[in-house]
Amino acid sequence: MRHAVTALVVCLAMVACRQPETPPAETETMESFAEADYDHVDKIDMHAHIHAKDGRFVDRARRDRFRFVDIATYAADPDEMRMRHETVFGQLEAHPDRVLAVVSFPMQGWDDDGWAEKTIRYLDEAFDRGAAGVKVWKNIGMEFKDRNGDDVMIDDPRFDPVFAHLVERDVPVIGHLGEPRECWLPVEQMVIHKGYYSTHPEYHMYLHPEMPSYEDQLAARDGLLARNPKLRFAGAHLGSLEWSVDELAAFLDRFPRVIVETAARVPDLQYQSSRDRERVRNFMIEYQDRIAYGTDLGVEPTDPTEEAIAAARERWRSDWRYFATDGAVEVRQLDEPVQGLELPKAVVEKLYRLNAERFFGDGWRASPS
Ligand SMILES: [Zn+2]
Repeated sequence: MRHAVTALVVCLAMVACRQPETPPAETETMESFAEADYDHVDKIDMHAHIHAKDGRFVDRARRDRFRFVDIATYAADPDEMRMRHETVFGQLEAHPDRVLAVVSFPMQGWDDDGWAEKTIRYLDEAFDRGAAGVKVWKNIGMEFKDRNGDDVMIDDPRFDPVFAHLVERDVPVIGHLGEPRECWLPVEQMVIHKGYYSTHPEYHMYLHPEMPSYEDQLAARDGLLARNPKLRFAGAHLGSLEWSVDELAAFLDRFPRVIVETAARVPDLQYQSSRDRERVRNFMIEYQDRIAYGTDLGVEPTDPTEEAIAAARERWRSDWRYFATDGAVEVRQLDEPVQGLELPKAVVEKLYRLNAERFFGDGWRASPS
């Protein structure tokens, strides 16, 4: 009983404390950033592939106040896979305060006994080396087959020990599973992703009707999340629900611990907001704790730093203009410029930094300078 009384007193005190003496003016809480604030706001690009062999790209991004989640994505070719991992660890070593390394695991030996144990050992070694997360890629579901020639999906029970281990260690997982819905359409019906599928027919699922459907891919991803409710999971590329903020909202409602990031799907949001700006803006505000900013920028070992940083900066500035201001934004795939969403400052800060920081815990070893 005494506990109950104490709890009630504490509770009343909290309620009392929560009342501000004068409520903040509407204009103050809804205040937005200016375009020039880009230079002053600390930001995180949660989806980058920086495979440069030196630290100059990340150095140059300091002026833009960007930190990175640098992702070594799966590659079927072991040499390519090794290069990606070595360069990502190289970036981490050069800039432990700026870069967070995310790794992938090989699929070789999937059909053999002990694949899961071997994979867990491989991942533990990567974590010992400083990796902060794991990425699973669309090769699961869209490329990799077992010895019977069957497609391996991400909710395959053979993955269970690996994901159980990641849950136990509370390791964040970024999942690029499935593809944009347009991937299952003929190129001439695509609006946003024409360029990619025209040059990557191997991943253009409209051309491969024998492969699992869009719905199959999302069902497998949802199956993974249902089997592992404690998995710390971020859906890359807006969780492959880039075409509808309503569908994306329903997904986020279904899996309340999951977040998504925007990599290479900002144009999909822009397309939707060109038709109904308020709908997209309201979604971004309502789900402000669940969306993190990412680009999918790539820097290859041979790319000149100045060109790479110029390309990244153009993307970053354009996206900032779209999310933070109400300025007109040119979108390559659309005929007309799109008006920016002018999200409130607090929402922009979550999108650009706080949600990624929360997702990765204290991953970045020091605060930015
Ligand atoms: Zn990527």
